[in-house]
Amino acid sequence: CGVFGVYHVENAAMLEYYGLHSLQHRGQESSGIAVSDGETINSYKGKGLTVDVFQKEKLSAMKGNTAIGHVRYSTAGGQEAENIQPIVSKGHNGCLAVSHNGQIDNDVELRLELENHGAIFQGTGDSEVILHQIQYERGTLLERITQAARKLDGAFSFLVMDEDRIYAVRDRYGIRPLSYAPCRQGYVISSETCAFEVMGIYESYDLKPGEIVEFSKDIVKHYQYTNDISHHMCAMEYIYFARPDSVVEGKNVHTFRKESGAVLARKDQDLHADIVVGVPDSSLSAAIGYAEESGLPFETGLFKNRYVGRTFIQPTQAMRDQSVRMKLSPVESVVSGKSVVMIDDSIVRGTTSRRIVQLLKSAGAKEVHVRIASPVFAYPCFYGVDTSTRAELIGARLNVEEICDYIKADSLRYLEVEDMREVAGQIGLCLACFDGKYVTNLYTHGKELED
Ligand code: 5GP
Ligand code: SF4
Ligand code: MG
Repeated sequence: CGVFGVYHVENAAMLEYYGLHSLQHRGQESSGIAVSDGETINSYKGKGLTVDVFQKEKLSAMKGNTAIGHVRYSTAGGQEAENIQPIVSKGHNGCLAVSHNGQIDNDVELRLELENHGAIFQGTGDSEVILHQIQYERGTLLERITQAARKLDGAFSFLVMDEDRIYAVRDRYGIRPLSYAPCRQGYVISSETCAFEVMGIYESYDLKPGEIVEFSKDIVKHYQYTNDISHHMCAMEYIYFARPDSVVEGKNVHTFRKESGAVLARKDQDLHADIVVGVPDSSLSAAIGYAEESGLPFETGLFKNRYVGRTFIQPTQAMRDQSVRMKLSPVESVVSGKSVVMIDDSIVRGTTSRRIVQLLKSAGAKEVHVRIASPVFAYPCFYGVDTSTRAELIGARLNVEEICDYIKADSLRYLEVEDMREVAGQIGLCLACFDGKYVTNLYTHGKELED
């Protein structure tokens, strides 16, 4: 998912729209905006892309200079309308809106307790627990958020807005990114920095793990809700999720991917190939890095129809298969008769790689050597990236040789977990989907590992 906040900028809804539009790659299922005019919060949300949910008239009718928004890609909780964010509550003590990226892992435990105290949930999502937990606590809004954040466990970067403030909160492990930047007379807050650049903003700051940042009365205040922190930025943000022009923990995503590609090339000293082809768009950076390091030409051997959404973020396998077919075409004149190094960022279920090897071969490629710019994906993510069950992960069932057979490649190689650490340098990573070392207690999710 993606979250975006606007604090104290005229026509906040319009700026919010541009922010969400830049974060669209983080979720395409639904889009929502909540705006505060200083007295109350109005929200509008719907299924689909930001451009489809919001028309100009809708946005100009949403008056106010503070807003939060959300683009959704469901991991926990179904796709029903009740789970679309921001989630808004109107209580005796005022309005609150919440936008969340990540996944709360002790949501079942907290929900039971809250329900025992009379809470009535609208949806099945884990994010609603955040709002209820904040409402349940006592004290000022900051105190309530602090208490709630201490009880929530899992991955979360969330925004809380009342009539005249925004609080940005990041989990103690630093799993999901969250940054903010000054914008005109106020501030903008975003899951990724790519949203700032479209606004002409080039200087931004990251929230620290375990931090609450308050935007109120035109200033920024920092609070640490816990000192028990660690640095486990989701490796998948660099590998696949984030946009290449974003900077995550001080490192540009394109650069990270290029370096990963170069590491792959260094392991291939003995491979004799003709061209390097990346799977558009998320693997192009890694393919460029591989080509640069190996000295082989980087070629457009696959063309992507940009009007088909992200294939992975489709709920059923049949839909994913159909969209891979519509999305990618081989460029015959480029690949025919060639030995191709095909770079992809990851193999999850194996759908994409298998299909692309077949496409390249049907276009006349002599050999296809698949190189994956991440380690073998063998464990499900419980921190907000949908990899579904362990049974669906091809890397959990088959070894590399068997996967190579399955995708019908001439050879297959992945990066190692150590390679990821090397590329990350000083940046601490979560690599749980590769090495099974989860950074949190898994609560009820632990049983999913047994499947
Ligand atoms: P597969 O086709 O093996 O199931 O999934 C891998 C492909 O899906 C890659 O090409 C990758 O770019 C794309 N992909 C889309 N969404 C995701 C995601 O959330 N995580 C990962 N690792 N890959 C994804
Ligand atoms: Fe990211 Fe994998 Fe960790 Fe999930 S398990 S947060 S996808 S690195
Ligand atoms: Mg891809």
